[in-house]
Amino acid sequence: MSQKPSVFNLLSTMLKVGAPPERTRPQPTTLTNVAGTDLPDFADANPADVQMITVEHPDGRMSQYPPPEYWDDWVEYSGKDWPRKVAHRYMLVPTVCFNCESACGLLAYVDKTTLEIKKFEGNPVHPGSRGRNCAKGPATHNQTYDPERILYPLKRVGKRGEGKWKRITWDEALNEISAKMRASREKRRDGIMYHVGRPGEDGYTNRCITAWGVDGHNSHTNVCSSGARAGYAFWCNWDRPSPDHAHARVILLISSHLETGHYFNPHAQRIIEGKMNGAKIITLDPRLSNTASMSDTWLPTWPGSESDVLLAIANYLIQNDLYDKAFVERWVNWQDTLEAVGSKQLAVNSASLQSLVSQSPTPQFEHFDLVLKDLYAEFTFARAAATAQVPVERLEEAARIIADCDGRLAAHVWRSASIGNLGGWQVARCLMFLNVLTGSVGTRGGTSGGEWNKFVPKPFKSPPAFNAWNELQLPDEWPLAHFEMSFLLPHFLEEERGDIDVYFTRVYNPMWINPDGFMWLKALQDETKMKCHVALTPTWNESAWFADYVLPMGHAGERHDLMSQETHAGQWIAFRQPVRRVAMEKLGQKVRFTYEANPGEVWEENEWWIELSARMDPDGRLGIRQWFESPYRPGQIITVDEYYQWIFENSVPGLPAAAAAESLTPLQYMRKYGVFEVKQTNYQPYEKEIERLRDWRLETHSQFTIQNSQFTIDPSARILENGKAIGVVVDGKPREGFDTPSRKLEFFSPTVHQWGWTEREYTIPWTLKSHVHPDNINREKGEMILLPNFRLPTLIHTRSANAKWLYEISHKNPVWMHPSDAQWLGVQTGDLVRVETEIGYFIDKVWVTEGMKPGIIAMSHHLGRWRLEENTGVNPGMSSLAKLSENGSQHKLNILHGAQPWSTFDPDTSRVWWNDVGVHQNLTHAVHPDPISGAHCWLQKAVNVRKAAATEAYGEVWVDTDKSMAVYREWVNMTRPASQVSPDGNRRPLWLRRPLKPVAEAYKRNS
Ligand code: SF4
Repeated sequence: MSQKPSVFNLLSTMLKVGAPPERTRPQPTTLTNVAGTDLPDFADANPADVQMITVEHPDGRMSQYPPPEYWDDWVEYSGKDWPRKVAHRYMLVPTVCFNCESACGLLAYVDKTTLEIKKFEGNPVHPGSRGRNCAKGPATHNQTYDPERILYPLKRVGKRGEGKWKRITWDEALNEISAKMRASREKRRDGIMYHVGRPGEDGYTNRCITAWGVDGHNSHTNVCSSGARAGYAFWCNWDRPSPDHAHARVILLISSHLETGHYFNPHAQRIIEGKMNGAKIITLDPRLSNTASMSDTWLPTWPGSESDVLLAIANYLIQNDLYDKAFVERWVNWQDTLEAVGSKQLAVNSASLQSLVSQSPTPQFEHFDLVLKDLYAEFTFARAAATAQVPVERLEEAARIIADCDGRLAAHVWRSASIGNLGGWQVARCLMFLNVLTGSVGTRGGTSGGEWNKFVPKPFKSPPAFNAWNELQLPDEWPLAHFEMSFLLPHFLEEERGDIDVYFTRVYNPMWINPDGFMWLKALQDETKMKCHVALTPTWNESAWFADYVLPMGHAGERHDLMSQETHAGQWIAFRQPVRRVAMEKLGQKVRFTYEANPGEVWEENEWWIELSARMDPDGRLGIRQWFESPYRPGQIITVDEYYQWIFENSVPGLPAAAAAESLTPLQYMRKYGVFEVKQTNYQPYEKEIERLRDWRLETHSQFTIQNSQFTIDPSARILENGKAIGVVVDGKPREGFDTPSRKLEFFSPTVHQWGWTEREYTIPWTLKSHVHPDNINREKGEMILLPNFRLPTLIHTRSANAKWLYEISHKNPVWMHPSDAQWLGVQTGDLVRVETEIGYFIDKVWVTEGMKPGIIAMSHHLGRWRLEENTGVNPGMSSLAKLSENGSQHKLNILHGAQPWSTFDPDTSRVWWNDVGVHQNLTHAVHPDPISGAHCWLQKAVNVRKAAATEAYGEVWVDTDKSMAVYREWVNMTRPASQVSPDGNRRPLWLRRPLKPVAEAYKRNS
């Protein structure tokens, strides 16, 4: 636990004078379980004099945090009653925000009398968020008391999409759905699919899916981060980067990272910390984002030119011998690269260099230096400036800053260009190249691998990997995809590649969030292909409308989860809790299932999955039930308490001791603090020596045995244990290295080469021609680029429509347009424009701004919500009432009216002053699956942008799904399927990640 002693000394001096006497709580039978039908009512307590404290941080800033020793009984004045001093008693229960993946700490203020949640504030002892939150954290309160939230399990009674539902019990839902799952599992292992939008937890659900023995995990990764993931995977098998912004000398961002990027609040505060300590910020973004505006150097690059810019900087480092040769020599697979040059797998420009390398009896690092100089010489600043359309001086300035980073370059890309462009995965690869060249890998102030800074504990027992492969998730065409080709599911179903018995969507609104939404609509309506759709969701959404069961799951303060994120160079684990349940239990009330404590009958997935899995296999015949039996009560079904009790007692190093020091059990400790810091720092773990091998002579070809394990040092200095690479010899020492086949950073990727992508532009960091390269956009004909993949900092995909504070701040998504383009089109701010894509068009308003690069228009994600019925569905104040119509392959969405005030128990709903809630642009986006990473390349070619005609109305969307399928096929034709290129008969390289890996046998194409 990271706690600042000075802060806590101060806190411990707090005076609590005249706190009101505790009032009698209602009996359990009269709980005010009111969310969804009333606002919390905080009755007056005795107006007593309670002295609050001011905490001064070591750096002089002031903030106020209740100290943990007072969390069980905290007294503070009601802000609403000011200037009267009305004191209330609260129990402060820590939990974890669920509104993005940062997993910031929250403290729920639970009224000890009514058990209502007064507010959510930051958790000061959380090492990632350090007491701070963005606007979306406190807005959890809006979601909890949202008048339109779904409070009870629902089952469809009319036709799919007709909007007719009946309330059912959880027992009915469990019995009916588990029976369908059992029937499916008995006949096949690819009939159940769990499709997740926001996981919000680490490993729990994956364990369940594995226990079911099916290949059933599907994610939203391909519309989010697969480009970046693939780029980092080919270098070092990192799932993602983890920059140490706070200690950086240079921060290089290809995203709007400060305001809305990955790990938004935890990273934003550390980026500013770094900046205050002198770090320079460089940002690549065609849009003047808030991040760009805070940068020392803004490079408004043409989309798709980012790799050119990065390689021009790399070339500057290489040609001027400014790169960290010692690091590169120790940790890059340069010997493999020279071998590839010698065998002509990797072409260099100079014939004499090729023969020098091929004739050298042993690989020489000097030759590798010459190869780098030869390969990258063409990437001049002038070329990058022309391609990116930015001033050459600004590129040179950025290169000089990076050259001066002294091994402290914190760099990050996650979505942005890497998910925008055909070949976007090379953006991540080129960015990582700068980390490698500057030696900023895992260093203080550098960039680490995500998994080094994330801690995921093991549960009490883990089911074995399944033997199955679902071709609807990872089909033949994309053997290197990261990961499942999720956004193409409707296209695969349209081609009759398969069907699904039970389809779970979980915090996921596929029809709305994915490109080509009308294809999703077709798939969701088709009961022969999607036989049963179960929507696990805290709120109504467009896709849930087409489900068979809609099951309400909790928000951040209504569920258990474990989360850890790589927010900085350290490791922590946080415990999300159902805060009313925790408060009730601390006050002596018994709660069997979390839905007894949550609003209505809102449940949590963890208990749901346990009960569902156990009912799927009541007699244990399918081998599933055993994984859901208690480690403490043999043969009995596990409780959620027992699940976490076992983890905290056995799998989190240091936690039992920290708990014992406070006379708590590990579970009590986590219930009290909600978080535990596992490691304060974690720099350069790849340098770590493998203890077991310290005393052995590590010569090439040497073989030895330790405790029945056989070790071999192979010609590449890799250390093999029973045939599996576990480390590498560097400087004569056995080191952990990287999790790649070579155990080194792979500059030349043998894997990419072996899997059919043999050209230079794929095997090493290089540029790839984007589908929106200037050659592909005919400006003369009026074509532009539509940049749809940025978001506003207050939006949460499709869940912000249940947070009134967030919608009041931001609710519309006009088309950003440069004044020169606006003048050319004859439009002004507020005018309607018609934007035509490859498959359809939409009508939106224009916002004319200098903050957009000419030739590009942009629209934020996450707005344009709609509902089909006036009184049910997405909140009336946050969505438009819409009508869907269909004529053959042509689909249309018309807006009947925009958002309106409406009357509920919450007076704020009648105060909705806005009408415009944006346009659902994603419906008109053609799918663009990258042939390597599988990422949907979000940037769209706007084939025609013009002022809207008088007959065209705001929000109108039209799409032809025949065109959708035609564009889909064009992109499929770019792939190199495993059936044609697999070097070993497998469907995919065994070493590459999958969210859930099956057994090796399942990888065989003919299995
Ligand atoms: S950054 Fe993410 S996790 Fe943190 S408070 Fe904001 S939405 Fe919640």
